[in-house]
Amino acid sequence: MRTCPLCPALSLVALVALPATFLIAAAPLAQDAAKATDKKEWGVHDKDRPQPAMVAPGGHGKAPSDAIVLFDGKNLDAWTGGQWEVKSDANGGYFQVKPGSGNIRTKEGFGSCQFHIEWMVPESCNCNGQQGCNSGVFFMDRYELQILGSNPNKTYVDGMAGSMYGQYPPLVNACNPNGQWNTYDVIFHAPKFKADGAVEKAGTMTVFLNGVLVQDHSEIWGATAHAAKAKYSAHEPKLPIGLQDHGDALCFRNVWLRPLAH
Ligand code: MG
Repeated sequence: MRTCPLCPALSLVALVALPATFLIAAAPLAQDAAKATDKKEWGVHDKDRPQPAMVAPGGHGKAPSDAIVLFDGKNLDAWTGGQWEVKSDANGGYFQVKPGSGNIRTKEGFGSCQFHIEWMVPESCNCNGQQGCNSGVFFMDRYELQILGSNPNKTYVDGMAGSMYGQYPPLVNACNPNGQWNTYDVIFHAPKFKADGAVEKAGTMTVFLNGVLVQDHSEIWGATAHAAKAKYSAHEPKLPIGLQDHGDALCFRNVWLRPLAH
């Protein structure tokens, strides 16, 4: 059997290039091109098969070239709701929950998407289970990916960082200590509903916390609920993304998304 001497190196390159792969494979333009190509049966390694769209990957806090930027360090113009505050430090702009002022949500609605956000629990926060360092990303204003200081901070596992609240614990605890930034990279697929409101296809989340897989295509049970089993109720195909004011002054930066076609 022939071996591939470069395979370990290529695998490493593939791993390092993961975000860029997402970008190229998932871009709406690329998807449209891919859809068009689906109409034809292509041979293996067919040289005429159309190339995917080019996307500059960004990286190091920069959004990819085809992303919708929801916060670039300057203002919260893309958001509405609570009076959260834009601040800056040596690394640039970020925004912070103003406790008690309410959740914020995007002015625009979104369905399936690749979503990126960075979040940090200030060292001054005192985590005690669900209290003191809690927020969350609410896809479609109802499906929560929990944000919680979890290094260290013991709580029920389907409510810690990387959990889909009340549904799935994270595969591992990859949370940074308070005072350090965390990164979420998410592939969110919106649920689909039949005309009568029944679920045609459940939504899913795949989540990387600080580059570590914590949700692997986990099927959403329904709208997030506290201490109750989540249930679906039919809704529009595009809805705002929310960030939770749980009474704690968490910080956020570098928020962007790329809509997915399905
Ligand atoms: Mg929360």
